[in-house]
Amino acid sequence: MSASSDYQRLRSHLAFLRMAAAAEALPGVLEEATKAKLSHSAFLERLLGIEVEAVDERRRASLARFASLPSPFTLADFDFSAQPSVDRSLIAELGTLRFVEDATNVLFIGPPGVGKTMLAVGLGHAAVAAGMRAYYTTASELAARCHRAALEGRWATTMRFYAGPRVLIIDEVGYLPLPAEAASALFQVVSQRYLKGSIVLTTNLGIASWGKVFNDDAMVAGAMLDRLLHRSVVVNIDGDSYRMRSHRARAEATRKAVASRG
Ligand code: ADP
Ligand code: MG
Repeated sequence: MSASSDYQRLRSHLAFLRMAAAAEALPGVLEEATKAKLSHSAFLERLLGIEVEAVDERRRASLARFASLPSPFTLADFDFSAQPSVDRSLIAELGTLRFVEDATNVLFIGPPGVGKTMLAVGLGHAAVAAGMRAYYTTASELAARCHRAALEGRWATTMRFYAGPRVLIIDEVGYLPLPAEAASALFQVVSQRYLKGSIVLTTNLGIASWGKVFNDDAMVAGAMLDRLLHRSVVVNIDGDSYRMRSHRARAEATRKAVASRG
């Protein structure tokens, strides 16, 4: 058997196995192996290493696409000095994603602009980087999707979809009161993930006012909170809005500039 027919068969094995990166790298790695007198195992390791890297990269890119995170900000971008009510070490602990292991939920509670979405999304990026399936949605998006699913007879599939990700981010619960049907969809999503998969949820409503989300249906609100809080980390953020803060800083700078000119 000639070396060139070995080479051709190796190419076709790699093509059959869909190892495109290894196939592409093959001539170079072979040449390198000859020059550096690599052992068989060192050669094979180098070739497969290239394929593993390419597959890993693809998997991460596909996890990132699937996650639908609305901004690129990570936990590292969060300015803790601007938000003293947020415990830096708690967020660092959450960033290790240990909470995902026992399906603990994370609730970010606070007024608009204090960084709830940023922190939830930051946890989403951390999950993706760790190779986990994460998914971001807003409460009203979730409600709309469940509504369509009910109309189109895809309820069960849609519920399975929300059960799937290791980390499900539900942003902006409580901004809009949810109609009864939407509230029950949210309740079902929370119930079926209970003790199985983490939910990272943000809300502008203190837990005491959760009845409002569910149109004063205290039963649903209570049952939902039981499941959400049973195993949970609650992060209350009560500082100033970051947007308002930077707006104020800009306004202040402008005022000073104007004053020094005048
Ligand atoms: P919320 O969801 O609580 O309404 P966001 O997370 O949307 O607030 O934050 C509002 C804006 O301010 C975003 O652009 C966010 O990136 C930024 N922001 C908020 N808090 C911080 C912070 N502590 N450090 C850096 N940027 C912040
Ligand atoms: Mg938000």
